[in-house]
Amino acid sequence: MHWEGIKSRLQSYRSINSLKVDLVVMGTNFVYSLLERFSRHQVTCSLCNWTGLAFRGISFGGWKALNQLCPKCNSYPRHRSLAQMIYKQGWNSIQGKILDIGAGASLQTVFTQDTQIYLKADIQKDPDVTQVFDIQFIPYSNQSMNMVVCLHVLDHVPNDIAAVREIVRILKPKGICILQGRIDPNQKITVDYFPKHSPHHPLQYRDYGKDFEQRFNSAHIRLEPLTYGNEIFYIGTLNA
Ligand SMILES: [Zn+2]
Repeated sequence: MHWEGIKSRLQSYRSINSLKVDLVVMGTNFVYSLLERFSRHQVTCSLCNWTGLAFRGISFGGWKALNQLCPKCNSYPRHRSLAQMIYKQGWNSIQGKILDIGAGASLQTVFTQDTQIYLKADIQKDPDVTQVFDIQFIPYSNQSMNMVVCLHVLDHVPNDIAAVREIVRILKPKGICILQGRIDPNQKITVDYFPKHSPHHPLQYRDYGKDFEQRFNSAHIRLEPLTYGNEIFYIGTLNA
């Protein structure tokens, strides 16, 4: 976890309820790990093939969600749905360079051919990360990537439109990108709080609304939603 994440978690303990919820989730996770020694496994991770009783729960600031995190590869439902979508669309055989921006589960096992280079990047060093940079200033040359994956990063970037322009710049003409942000389906227009953080999420600068596709029009990219499992991904291709 990044320092900023640790800091805001500690700050969240000003509310005793937040500490209580974290303890409940930690306790639940511990019980699962004990029961897994004796009971039939019910879930399988599509990224690392881990099997267990349930994925682990997560919590933050009094909010919690159970059955989310794979204890082996740190994938969330979005990573596992993404892996399944990539296989289904045949994108796992895309040749060339694949850049995955954002800490979290690695998609390395999805891209295993000799003719593929899978790069995992984030703004800070993380166990799975091999490239460290700010997405607003990507250190790769124009038209150098065949695929760019960027899940739940744009919400945390000061200038998300500049970041998408950078993705567009490094994509090859027929390349694709897969974007995802936390979108509030009840909100029409994105609300940008930068330089402050969203009142709904201590690490996000904005709450995306239903205008996610249009928001990046000026970056000259065409975004189309593709739903997989409970997740909506935005598939980006360059404007002709
Ligand atoms: Zn896993």
